[in-house]
Amino acid sequence: SVEIRKVNKHFGPFHALKDVDLVIEPGKVNCLIGPSGSGKSTLLRCINFLEEYDSGEIRIDGQLIGYEAPGKKMSGRRLREMRRSIGMVFQQFNLWPHMTARENVAEGLIRVRGMSKSEAHERAAEALTKVGLADRMTNHPARLSGGQQQRVAIARAIAMEPRLMLFDEPTSALDPELVGEVLNVMKTLAGEGMTMVVVTHEMGFAAHVADKVAFMEKGELVSVDIPDRILHHPEDARIQSFLRTYH
Ligand code: ATP
Ligand code: MG
Repeated sequence: SVEIRKVNKHFGPFHALKDVDLVIEPGKVNCLIGPSGSGKSTLLRCINFLEEYDSGEIRIDGQLIGYEAPGKKMSGRRLREMRRSIGMVFQQFNLWPHMTARENVAEGLIRVRGMSKSEAHERAAEALTKVGLADRMTNHPARLSGGQQQRVAIARAIAMEPRLMLFDEPTSALDPELVGEVLNVMKTLAGEGMTMVVVTHEMGFAAHVADKVAFMEKGELVSVDIPDRILHHPEDARIQSFLRTYH
């Protein structure tokens, strides 16, 4: 689970997250939606402490991330350990251009997990097969479509066997015809019981795959509820107004 309690974050004088409370149960998919600049990426990045929060608590399976105790930061080593169980996929795929798809996936297994090269390549092949790229393992990123590159990025994350996956607009950089193949892989992962937090503008995905949808505005988590109540019958005027921009 992910438990976010009263989290605040400032960038200098700017109050980017305001007393955010959100709980993601194990095996559930939570989509985060809201206008540009509302704090979605900031909140997502706080979950793996890529961004430091100022106050409040974030717990991953009960364990406080980033701090040993309020105000006392955890060691870099402990933080790296905790991050190993959290996979993250960004809008930009961040693949190494000089490595093949399989090498991209195997690299973390070798460096972080200390696997042998052959073991890592075997695991990488399994992960790439899972995302539908069994026939593209020896391609370099330049020889893959955007959708394929993003699926390599997802394979790289799941090969590490995370307990939690964070996605920040994973399909926003893709041509429209390539969005579906990436969403399908995410849907499969969700179906297998992966705990997921997904920042997205794909309202269809949120409606069909999310267990809960959270709406953010101006650093505030305005509302969290089942998709139907947020996306089809929102009571809050801010959500209604946001959704109108999609119709
Ligand atoms: P988008 O939909 O455009 O990705 P978002 O909801 O993900 O938006 P964030 O990236 O979380 O928004 O940014 C929230 C606010 O915090 C924005 O006003 C942004 O300008 C500000 N912000 C984010 N990162 C920093 C930073 N490193 N320094 C200063 N301000 C920042
Ligand atoms: Mg963002």
